[in-house]
Amino acid sequence: MQVVTIGNRTDQPPPEATKEGNYFVSNYPPFSFWRPENVQEAVAALQRPPAPDTPLGLYVHIPFCRKRCHFCYFKVYTGMDAAAIETYLDAVRQELALYAAQPIIGGRKPRFIYFGGGTPSYLSTRQLGGLVDEMKRLFPWDGIEEVTFECEPGTLTEGKLEILREIGVTRLSLGIENFDDEILRVNGRAHVSKEIDRAYSFARSVGFPQINIDLIAGMVGETEQNWQETVRRAIELAPDSVTIYQMEVPYNTTISKEMRVHGEKVAPVAPWNVKRAWTQYAFDQFAAAGYTVTSAYTAVRNPAQASFVYRNLLWAGADMLGLGVASFSHANGTHYQNEHDYDTYIRRCNSGELPLFRALTPTPLERFVREFILQLKLGQVTNQYFVDKYAVNPAHHFPAELGALQAEGFLHFDDAGVRLTPEGLLQVDRLLHRFFLPEHRNARYS
Ligand code: SF4
Repeated sequence: MQVVTIGNRTDQPPPEATKEGNYFVSNYPPFSFWRPENVQEAVAALQRPPAPDTPLGLYVHIPFCRKRCHFCYFKVYTGMDAAAIETYLDAVRQELALYAAQPIIGGRKPRFIYFGGGTPSYLSTRQLGGLVDEMKRLFPWDGIEEVTFECEPGTLTEGKLEILREIGVTRLSLGIENFDDEILRVNGRAHVSKEIDRAYSFARSVGFPQINIDLIAGMVGETEQNWQETVRRAIELAPDSVTIYQMEVPYNTTISKEMRVHGEKVAPVAPWNVKRAWTQYAFDQFAAAGYTVTSAYTAVRNPAQASFVYRNLLWAGADMLGLGVASFSHANGTHYQNEHDYDTYIRRCNSGELPLFRALTPTPLERFVREFILQLKLGQVTNQYFVDKYAVNPAHHFPAELGALQAEGFLHFDDAGVRLTPEGLLQVDRLLHRFFLPEHRNARYS
């Protein structure tokens, strides 16, 4: 299968060309600085009681998909049978039990739960029920503010959606990405457009408090005309929120591997300036339809009803225990990741051991930088928040970086806070590296 259809082999690709590598900044310090030799720091963090007033959340990684998308860099497995999935879910249940006994829980109940993947909706209703029953037994859901569940449209039936609502899912997130069957096919997506309409109308009829849809600007084969049609159809669905990602081509994707085979320096997708223009077009159209842009990626129909608890608490330093192979966690000030090898993950859980793989305990300054850059993705930050929490005022700590970005038209700042301009918000992930500590700049991210 060849997915690389355009691109070039010149030594100097155009500056805005999409090249191989990460764009999206999801955490800090970069994952490449998390080390196996620091795992004892994570063990110790879990054995301490929680810091006062720190919310707790759970993330559950379901690493199964019907097909592997050509742009996917997640830990996913295709073609797993029911027995293999049950073995995995048994390991997750073991891991849950191990966590339930850790002092860090300190009597807290989770405020948010996120089922991500992979494709959580790949699970059968029976598998899902078995997992959720055990979760509720060990971590009661009566303090829950939000349960997000990621879905691939082709895996949804009315019966499965009813079960999802029954178990307490409040935020259903549908990975639509595009409405054009040819674009979906060329990018390796498993679903087709008629499955989108069917899944969406089932989901609406079941009555989830919030339905989010994901779109990607600049998939392989995308054209301006098709993107406009994708946006039009997305607005027609009237989701509670829309999340728009700009297509990136991280290492270890099928596209990047093909690029290397063919000696291509430029990925076969639109350049960044075009993807930004397409994203701005989408936000403008959604705004005209009454939506409010609430982050670099999100527009919501009713901001009072469509908050995103997982994102907001995680970006403000919540504890989050990540269950499943290769999952990421934050506990009592330490970041860590689970075993990324599937068999090792299962073996360690089944032998009664938390499957921790690599860890990093950020310094207070690094924790400040982490929250500052993550919250900048919301479009604005308040300096007082960081003064109260870290005794650091961003305006005083980053005068040169903020001054340069202001001069370039990407933000405004003063003693009260920092506000990105629309142009800054559209490319915020590219700008955040300027706030990294020197040792983390120009380093591989993941
Ligand atoms: S559905 Fe999502 S997790 Fe699965 S292969 Fe595609 S991008 Fe990756």
